[in-house]
This record gives sequence, C-alpha cells and structure tokens, in this order.
Amino acid sequence: MYISPPNKIEPLDSILPEEPLLMMGAGPVPIPARVAAANSIVINHLGDTMAKIIDQVKNMSSYVFQTDSARILGVAGPGSAAMEMAVANLVEPEDRCLCVCNGFFSNRLAELAERAQGNVTRLIVEPGTSAALNTVTQYLEQYKPKILTIVQGETSSTVCNNDLPAICKAAKDHNCLIIVDAVCTLSTMPLHMDEWGIDAVITGGQKGLSSIPGVSLVAFSELAWQSIQDRQSPMRHWCLDATLADRFWYKKSYHYTAPVSGVLAIHEALKLVCDETLESRFQRHLRSSGAFQAGVEAMGSKLYIQPEHRLNSVVGVCVPENVNKQELISSMSSRYRVEISGSFGANIVRVGQMGEQCRAHNIFRTLHALGATLASLKAEVDLPAGVSALEKSLQDFDSAVTPH
Ligand SMILES: *Cc1c(COP(=O)(O)O)cnc(C)c1O
Repeated sequence: MYISPPNKIEPLDSILPEEPLLMMGAGPVPIPARVAAANSIVINHLGDTMAKIIDQVKNMSSYVFQTDSARILGVAGPGSAAMEMAVANLVEPEDRCLCVCNGFFSNRLAELAERAQGNVTRLIVEPGTSAALNTVTQYLEQYKPKILTIVQGETSSTVCNNDLPAICKAAKDHNCLIIVDAVCTLSTMPLHMDEWGIDAVITGGQKGLSSIPGVSLVAFSELAWQSIQDRQSPMRHWCLDATLADRFWYKKSYHYTAPVSGVLAIHEALKLVCDETLESRFQRHLRSSGAFQAGVEAMGSKLYIQPEHRLNSVVGVCVPENVNKQELISSMSSRYRVEISGSFGANIVRVGQMGEQCRAHNIFRTLHALGATLASLKAEVDLPAGVSALEKSLQDFDSAVTPH
C-alpha cells in the first residue's frame, strides 16, 4: 500500500506569472542573467574547479568587505544563518554582549546572542534615529561588553547607523569585539572592515550583492578568529561551526556539501561588483535612491526617516491615513507587476534600492506604479510632478559628476 500522489499539483509554468514581477521590495532583489545562469549549474563540490572558484570568491570578497582577512567563510543558509554563525562562534555562555537595536534585524542579533547564552544588554535606539556615538560609549563604559552587535542598515525601520566608523572605534578602545550586520548594505555604501576595526561582517546573497537567497558570507578578523580558537565552551552548532567551515573554505576538505550552484551564483555577483568597482557602485546607489526619494516627495508622499538617519538601500514611504497598506501593495503587484514590501509595525511601505534595483528604468516604473496606485486608492498625489523630479534628480546628479 502506498499513499497516492497528490492529484491537484500544477506545473510551475502555470503558477509563475508569464512576465516575472519586478522585485522592488526589501529583498530578494532581481538577479542579473549571469547570476541566474551560474545558479543552474552543479559541479563537484570538492574538485579542482570548485577549489578555483572558492579562491576567487574569497579574493573578490576581500575587496568587497575591504579586508585582508584570511577568514572569509561561505554558509549554506540565509543572512540569518550568517548572523548566527558570527554570533554563535564568538559568544560563549555568560559573555557580556551589547546589542544596539534599531529594529527587527538588530533585535534578532540580540536574540541570537541570548540563545548563545550571552549576558545581553540591549541599547534600544530611539525609533527613527541612528545609534548615537555618545550613548553607545556610555553603555560600553557601564557594561564593559566583550562583544558589540550592530547593523549598518536596519532594513525594517529604514534607518542607517551613519556613525558606524566612530562607534567601531569606541568599541575597539573598550577592547570589544564588533559584529556588524551588513546584509542590506554591503556593496551599496562604504564599509571598511579592516580600517574601521570590525571583527565580523555578515552579509546575505539576495540584497546588495544581487545574488540568490540561501548562500551567505561571513568575514572574521584575526582577533575574532583567535577568540574562536580560544573558546572554553563547546560550539553547540555543527553546521555553523566556523572551524569546521574553515576546512572547506581554506583546506579543500569536506565539511558539508557546499551549495555549489549558489556559490557559483555569488561568484558571478561578486565579479559584477569588482568589474563595476565599489566607488561607481556606491555612486549608482546614491544616484538612484536619491532620485527615487526626490520623486516620492515631489509626488506629495512622505519619507519615513529624516535625511540624516535615512538608509538609502531600503526606503520607507509613509502610507496616507485613508489608504490601506495591504491594498496598496497588492494592487501595485497585480496591476503594475511591481512588488514592494510592507513593514513590521510602522504604517509604511518599503522600496528596495539594493544592487540591481538601482536602475533608472526600475525606479521610474516603481514610482509610476506607486503613484498611480495611490491615486486609484484616493490618495492625493501629483504623479507627473514626481516623475519630473525623479528625472531632474538623475540629470542633476550626472551634471554634478561630469560638469559640462
Ligand atoms: C534581510 C536581512 C537579514 C536577514 O536575512 P535573511 O536572508 O532573511 O535571513 C538580516 N539583517 C538585515 C539587515 C537584513 O536586511
């Protein structure tokens, strides 16, 4: 006797839309054709070809993280697995951890530290603002943590911790190891792992890097690596044990079967970053996100975060009171085939400006979809003014960069 096969399974091509939706939310983001092609290949995870690819992934990551670290590890898993890898390897039971919290993901770092049995203090940052150096310094003095966790960009609240370099310096001065979550920011804005003295940088595939979700990267400093070597208590995770992952990433031996296709995809994504160069990529993000923000405001909508605290890689747009957020998101998707994200809590929608999302044709289409949908839901918007401001912002940016 067998249980019979299910009888109402539709094939993928009847479920997926004929034309893919434009992914303009907080991730995953659209992937370039080269990344998609790489993701369709399976090779031997321990062969010479893979060894060469792994070497190149590490070399390119050194550039993207701006580090000489010889401890750059890939992980089969989401950005959260990379977060857990950094936290679980560095935090031992009773270790004091100071977790700077600006929202959902920075709180996740605190939760991971608690699960690693760290002695966690949360510094809850005032909503809508970035972490202030003097507050962090006070907490460092008061709690003397071994580890500080912080996000560069908080995707949930669309806040950017702009004071990150100074905060890292203060933490270093207090002999504190620093874990930075750069999942939504890496390759979208400057991050200098070595220069800033960061001990672990975390990133995922599906945001700034514009690769697929499910393969992530963590880079550890020498100091962090020493601390992992010196652990007194056993590492409870097996898959996320950095010393085991090191076997695969540096010693060509087996840990678990690496997600080869995803590693090939991230290889291509990193190659695109290297070809573009970080400087031009950051300019592209500033230009695109700035123009989108100018368009939103000129259209008559409000941005959620004040400019000095605002994250460029994920933009929060306030939803007018008379508009239902869910209806806004679903009609943008069904009518205009543009996907954006809701939020955890605040009455905002979030538009991503990470990697492939930062193309002029994508922001025009998104602003149009947003404005037209808001108008159809009886919000007061001036869409032509928005589109015009978007174009003007792009032109102004270009003439400032290359003066005529
Ligand atoms: C998306 C995100 C994560 C989590 O990544 P997953 O791949 O969803 O696990 C963590 N931190 C930040 C800042 C993020 O934007």
